[in-house]
Order: sequence, then structure tokens, then C-alpha cells
Amino acid sequence: MNQNSNIEFISRESLEKLQLSRLKETLRRVYSFSPFYKNLFKKEGLTPSKIKSLKDLPLIPFTTRKDLRENFPYGLLSIPLNDVVRLHTSTGTTGKPKAVFFSRNDINSSAELIARSMKMTGAEKGDVFQNMMGYGLFTGGLISHYGAERLGLLVIPAGAGNTERQIELMFDFKTTVVHITPSYALYLADVMEEKGFNPKKDFNLRILYLGAEPYSEKTREKIERIFTVDAYNSYGLSEMNGPGVAFECKYKEGMHLWEDNFIMEIVDPSTGEPLKEGEEGELVLTSINKEAMPIIRYRTGDLTYIYPEKCNCSRVHRRISRIKGRADDMLIIRGVNVFPSEVERILMDLPEVGRNYQIVLDRKKDLDKMKVRVEIKRDFFDGSLDHLKKVEIKIKAKLKDELMVTPEIELLEPSSLPRTTGKAKRIIDKREI
Ligand code: AMP
Ligand code: ZN
Repeated sequence: MNQNSNIEFISRESLEKLQLSRLKETLRRVYSFSPFYKNLFKKEGLTPSKIKSLKDLPLIPFTTRKDLRENFPYGLLSIPLNDVVRLHTSTGTTGKPKAVFFSRNDINSSAELIARSMKMTGAEKGDVFQNMMGYGLFTGGLISHYGAERLGLLVIPAGAGNTERQIELMFDFKTTVVHITPSYALYLADVMEEKGFNPKKDFNLRILYLGAEPYSEKTREKIERIFTVDAYNSYGLSEMNGPGVAFECKYKEGMHLWEDNFIMEIVDPSTGEPLKEGEEGELVLTSINKEAMPIIRYRTGDLTYIYPEKCNCSRVHRRISRIKGRADDMLIIRGVNVFPSEVERILMDLPEVGRNYQIVLDRKKDLDKMKVRVEIKRDFFDGSLDHLKKVEIKIKAKLKDELMVTPEIELLEPSSLPRTTGKAKRIIDKREI
């Protein structure tokens, strides 16, 4: 994997040259193989040769989730089916899943990105990597697995769930590195404590990769404290072949998006107009190092911004901020826009708050109602009723102050909300459409 490591430090100019040549090759590929792209180009009166520079990319229309669904399963396939060696699907909750295909080179390039990302954070040969991302159709498990093996780590393919066994494996094999969803990390800590372990002291953990769902900086800090580890943000999506799209370096200030594999744009989520570096909007990605199913100008739905400054690590690949959520995650409560990630940030900043919360939406007499159900730490929960009331008032005031919403608050004892081993379901929406 070393032959490619200087790709992280080449000049901006060389990077853009590489992007352009990869983009052109990708466009030729999708135009000649994929029925969906052939059609799209024709409709727009475009041919790949019209894209002469990176600035021309916006001539091509966006590809959306709807396009993937409507052209399921093979409409975006850009190599012969018998050259496809792997299929994954995304974790959609409604309708048909989105299918993504991999050629042998795609498997290698995805693994390379994970290996590169892990190396960047200091993981190395000799580390024991327990992979708690789900194996199977979800890209998280297998792609991380291949990447860690490529870097030479000892990989324990534990998958998500079976928490007691996870703890046993961590203990017996002295696991040092884990890839996990933030909600499962908190759950894991709960179970460790229930079983009489001390998450800080009884294990050899040093690095956690947290990803696959939005979470706040406060949650990262909480998880780092619970386990005494360095926790790095890991971002990816099935449509771009899974994890390893963007990853934090040791400075933990934004995630380097691997621009030799993806071209990124930030657009206004409602108009699709381009936004400048530093402005928050929807991330649009073009895969330029994929064979089986490259996607051009994909509307990820994820809200972020590009850091205008160069990182202290001096990598050329620009950084994106922590994902605020998906554009369609935004809740509108009586006219006020609220992102669940902001509720989380506020809750997790309060010393009384435990490890889990849930937002319940309901509608009474045409008015939307929001309720925040939140676990409180044992010490506070077992205190006097008077004290609990004060905690409730404090949470309410904070939410009102910062978000201008006044939800009903329900305080719960630790571990009382349903716990998940994969992506958490934080929003319960009982409103009728
Ligand atoms: P999937 O295709 O099922 O892997 O889901 C990908 C989606 O998960 C992304 O589009 C994001 O919305 C979300 N996601 C993945 N990683 C992160 C992360 N580190 N922070 C926030 N959201 C994430
Ligand atoms: Zn950096």
C-alpha cells in the first residue's frame, strides 16, 4: 500500500490533473456502458468530450437517489455483469434498496482507501482490529475488513451485535482498534459496566473509528472519555462504495475527503446552486476511481461544509466538517427548523445526561409536538424529585435558548431506551402524513 501514500501530499495541481483524467475516463465508461447515463447525456445533448476541465462538471445533471431506485438493479452498471465480483445494498428503510456493484479493482481501491485512512490515524501492523460494523449486505463490515487486512492488522470479523461476546473477544485478544457506530459504542460501554468491567482500564483499546450515522462532537468526547481512546470520525456511503470516503486525521478537525477518488461539490440543498468553501450545504460526490458503478454528481443528502484552510497535517485532500445530518432529517416544529444532531449536541453537553435519547414527534389538533426522552445518569436519577425537576427545567431552557423549541421532556433511568447495535433510530414520528 505504500506506493500510493504520497498521493496524500502531492500538489493541488497534480491532484486536479489526476482528477480530470480520472473524470474523463469515468465519463467515457458510463456513457458507453450504463443505459441510464447514456440516456441522460443524450437528453442534455452532451458527450463526454464536452467535459474538458473540472469546471465543466456542472454541465452534467445531478444523479439522485430516485434515479438509482428507478434504474434498479442494473441501469447504472458500467461494466459487463460477468466482471462484477460483489454486490452490496444500502440500508434504506423504504422501498427497494439501492444496489451497488464492485469489480475486482473496485474492491481493491475501496480497501486501499480504508487502509490509507486507518494508517493516517496511527493504526499499524501489530494492532488487533475488532470490526463491529455489520457484515453482509451493508458495506460497512466487509469494506472495513478488507482495508484493515490490507494494512496488515489482525482482523477479528465480529460484526455488530452479540455484545457479551464482543466484550469477551476484546478482553481475550486485547483488541486495540474498533470500527463501530457511535450509538453502539455507548451501548457497549453500558454492557461492559453491567458485567462489572471498567471500559477505561480493563481493555487495551487505543483507537475507535466512529461512523455510519450522525453524532455530535460532544458524543465523540464522551466516548473518548469512557474508553480513554482516540475516536476518529469515519464517513462513507454505499453509493460511493461504503466507508473510507472521508476520514479524520490525528488533528480531528474535519475529515479529509479522498479527492483522488471523489470530486466533491457543496450545493444549496433546495436550489442545487453551487456554494463556496466554508458555506454549509449538501455534499455532491462524483466517483472517479470506480469501474462497476461510478456515479456522477450524486446528491448525497448529507449536510456539511468544506474547510477553506489547509489542515495542519498538510495533506492536499480537503476536509469536510462533521455531517450535520441529511437535508431530509430536518424537523420542522411549528415553523422552527431543528436538526436532531443539534438536539444531541445540547443534551450531551449536560453533565446530568446519560448515553441515550429519543425524539418523539406527534400531532395534536394540527399542531406538531415534540417530546425529548432522555436517559439521566444514575446519580441524578436516584436523587430527589425536586432535583429531577430542576434537571428537566435546565434541559428545557437550554433547548429553548439555543434552538427555539420547547419540547416536552421525559427523564428516564439509564439503559431504558431501546439500544441498537447498528445505526440508531433516534426519531419516532407518530404524525399522520
Ligand atoms: P449507508 O449507505 O447505509 O452506508 O449510509 C450512508 C449514510 O450514513 C451517509 O449518507 C450519511 O447520511 C450517514 N453517515 C455515514 N457516515 C457518517 C458519519 N461519520 N457522520 C454522519 N453521518 C454518516
Ligand atoms: Zn489533516
